Amino acid sequence: MNDAFPYLPIEDEVSAPFWAATRERTLLVQFCPACTRFQHYPRAICTQCGGTALEWKEASGNATIDSWTLVTRAPSEGFEVPYYIIRARLEENVIMLSRFVGESEPECDMSVALGWQPLSDGRHLPVFTSEQEQ
Ligand SMILES: [Zn+2]
Repeated sequence: MNDAFPYLPIEDEVSAPFWAATRERTLLVQFCPACTRFQHYPRAICTQCGGTALEWKEASGNATIDSWTLVTRAPSEGFEVPYYIIRARLEENVIMLSRFVGESEPECDMSVALGWQPLSDGRHLPVFTSEQEQ
């Protein structure tokens, strides 16, 4: 299973703190103090209440697989197939689309742990692996 990531993710003003934290292998998710909910991916406003005073909190990295797929056709040049994409439900109750790496096959409701794949610019891509492979 190929785990290489073929391009650098684009960051913007809203997602810059998320990507900066990945340099230290820290997973941040946005938290809205007005309605006490987390959200991911990073957005300028809270999708639950419209609040704009969002904070960043470190996620535990504990998650379960909500759904998964095996990608067998490259979406663009540079992707080497096959690879797994999972919907990881983080302990903070947000969904993160991510890669599933390692030797095992993903299963729904499988507990997974956060891992990091280095990118060429010093950032890291959050990925998940089976807890048994930790
Ligand atoms: Zn809110």
